[in-house]
Amino acid sequence: MAKKKNRFTVGWLYPDLMNIYGDRGNILTLLQRAAWRGFDARSIDLGRGTTQGMDDVDVFFFGGGQDREQALVYDDLIELKQEPLEAAVAGGAVVLAVCGGYQLLGHYYQTAEGERFPGIGLIDVRTEAGKKRFIGDVVVDANMEGLTPPTLVGFENHSGRTFLGTGARPLGKVRLGSGNNGSDGTEGCLQGGVVGTYLHGSLLPKNPQLADYLIRRSLTRRGLAELAPLDDSTELAAHAKILQRAQPRAQER
Ligand code: GLN
Repeated sequence: MAKKKNRFTVGWLYPDLMNIYGDRGNILTLLQRAAWRGFDARSIDLGRGTTQGMDDVDVFFFGGGQDREQALVYDDLIELKQEPLEAAVAGGAVVLAVCGGYQLLGHYYQTAEGERFPGIGLIDVRTEAGKKRFIGDVVVDANMEGLTPPTLVGFENHSGRTFLGTGARPLGKVRLGSGNNGSDGTEGCLQGGVVGTYLHGSLLPKNPQLADYLIRRSLTRRGLAELAPLDDSTELAAHAKILQRAQPRAQER
């Protein structure tokens, strides 16, 4: 059945288990910004045991979770979701993955105790947890052409150290915070239609330009490249507030 041209669907992976530090705000932002452009915007829950509706999804969201929750979902991700997710991304769908979700889209996540959870290798990254957690505000100079403002702001709380392979490029460079691993200065990753990041907060309400990037990119396959501009003064004021607050600490680095 032909997809309704004005339908916009967000697929929420494991909403009951992978959803911390305000991650739900990303779903609300994507739906609201699509609805403000006249789309019939909806989200579908893609918990354990189901793949129903995955081929209708425009943007998938995979939130964060502690080691315990990641241990509860990686099997289902490999056995049930991997194939339809790969097919959807190959077909032009987009993925936003935050922290624990970002880690499981890579080759593996290894806990601080040495237990290894296999990932699906959708992105060329690997993660190994350290003893010390990276916690706090993050400011990133994004590596995305035409992103305005060219900064991303958010909050991180993770033990994982993520390293990018040659197949992935960083989402940006950290101006404040630890980002991927606290040593190479990178944050997140971009690979095809997949955006991975350690930024919670939630991310998209304070970074509307990234939300529009995801919506626009997922709609190009339907020939819809332009999105009507919105009044983002409130969102951008919140963004600017974090930048301002981060200034002194960024200079200390
Ligand atoms: N459990 C993972 C880690 O500690 C992810 C944490 C998260 O999603 N915030 O790195």
